[in-house]
Amino acid sequence: MYTVTQLIGGVWGAGGEAGELTVHDPADGRPVTSAPVATTDEVDKAVAAARGVASEWAATAPSERAAALHRIADAVADVADELAQATTAEMGKPLADARGGVDAGIATLRQYAELAPARGGRTLHGDPAAIDFMTPQPRGVVAAITPWNDPVAVSCGLLGAALVTGNVVLHKPSERTPATGWLLARAFDTALPAGVLSLLSGGPTTGAALAAAEVDMVAHVGSSATGRAIAEAAASTGAKVLLENGGSDPLIVDADVDPNWAAGEAALGAFANAGQICVAVERIYAHRDVAEDFVAALVERAAALRVGPGRDPDTQLGPLVDRRHRDQVHGQVIAAVADGARLRIGGTLPEGPGAFYPATVVDRCRHDLALIREETFGPVAAVVVVDSFSEALRCAADSPYGLAATVLTGSMSHAQRAWRELPVGTVKVNAVFGGAPAGAAHPRRGSGQGFGYGPELLDEFTATKAVHIQAPGGGHW
Ligand code: NAD
Repeated sequence: MYTVTQLIGGVWGAGGEAGELTVHDPADGRPVTSAPVATTDEVDKAVAAARGVASEWAATAPSERAAALHRIADAVADVADELAQATTAEMGKPLADARGGVDAGIATLRQYAELAPARGGRTLHGDPAAIDFMTPQPRGVVAAITPWNDPVAVSCGLLGAALVTGNVVLHKPSERTPATGWLLARAFDTALPAGVLSLLSGGPTTGAALAAAEVDMVAHVGSSATGRAIAEAAASTGAKVLLENGGSDPLIVDADVDPNWAAGEAALGAFANAGQICVAVERIYAHRDVAEDFVAALVERAAALRVGPGRDPDTQLGPLVDRRHRDQVHGQVIAAVADGARLRIGGTLPEGPGAFYPATVVDRCRHDLALIREETFGPVAAVVVVDSFSEALRCAADSPYGLAATVLTGSMSHAQRAWRELPVGTVKVNAVFGGAPAGAAHPRRGSGQGFGYGPELLDEFTATKAVHIQAPGGGHW
């Protein structure tokens, strides 16, 4: 069992006066982690301690900060297996996926270590006797509040970008993956001056205290409801907010595609990580010409998935993160069926321990069902039949979210219409998880604001200052 400790003001083991939380393995219900819960007072003390070292870290040469980030990447690589095991034990995903998330995190750290010192400002051309330039500076004290579904990759991105650009960071990992966050913080702390990184643990109350504290920036990856609460809190303090939030990504299956191939893409998008991916396929608009064959092939793929604990190397579909979340997923499926949708496979709560939920396919969905409009975040493929590509585009665009979308089509003109017309951050054509490294996009609507990834994330963590320097009256100095 993991026993998490907090890191406040460079001291491990501080605080936790608000009690303890326990995480249970979603595969079998056994307790895996005990973690302290930070009080508001502890959060405020951590912020004050971080403020105390902020100027020194900001004044450290960018090359030195980059070197520290490379050492952090080495330290994370040294505990990569341990981190993957903790992730699987706490949130259930197959171990190979968890290890993939760790490797992605390490790669991001190295990428930011290389990119950050190479980025700079702009020289301006005003009075030739004066000096005018724009230069990026660290924002100061950053609160990073992260989710459980890909805990290492997401945290490495935010923490790496914030630290290498000269900010001090208070990290609050999800209450569902505190040991993963703790192991990560221990690796980071080996390569950083004391106090530059703090680790606070706890749930929404601790997160809310951090979002309302006197920090300069709150970076949140998580649900849209939380993102909105954080934006509200930050409006009172003046902190900058970066939000990477939920999605309800559409998949459009055009009339001219091979329905078997399309079913493979849909199954990957809907069932990977048991659907607990921000850019999972959440709703499918299938053209009537191919819909029947497509759904039949999708049902076959759902039936073929090997279900089991994430630690079993044969497992393709692990449990959901916990039973609370499973109840939400199941509730949406049941409500859709009660409202006329047809269950083709899955959709039942299994007997036995853990938070398993079967790969589920629901067709005859209407576009206005909560299963279609809201984020489900479970292994559920919900299909709406449409009569034209234009109708599919219209439905796909009609959403409170705007994270990403995928279009499967053999028509270049349809592909062009899709990327131009869909009001989302990322459009993928003919691959649900395709994309070049270092891509970054602006999520829209309830999916957040700002760049959460790529080189542009480095800019989010800096504030640009414009400087004008001229000689005093008389012209000499
Ligand atoms: P969540 O918002 O419930 O929790 C995320 C973090 O916010 C946790 O650390 C939590 O303790 C904290 N938190 C909760 N309530 C808070 C409050 N009122 N104030 C401050 N902090 C608070 O999200 P989750 O369930 O952990 O993660 C799943 C969600 O994250 C999904 O919606 C998913 O789409 C989204 N997500 C988005 C991206 C992206 O890049 N857009 C990536 C991964 C996950």
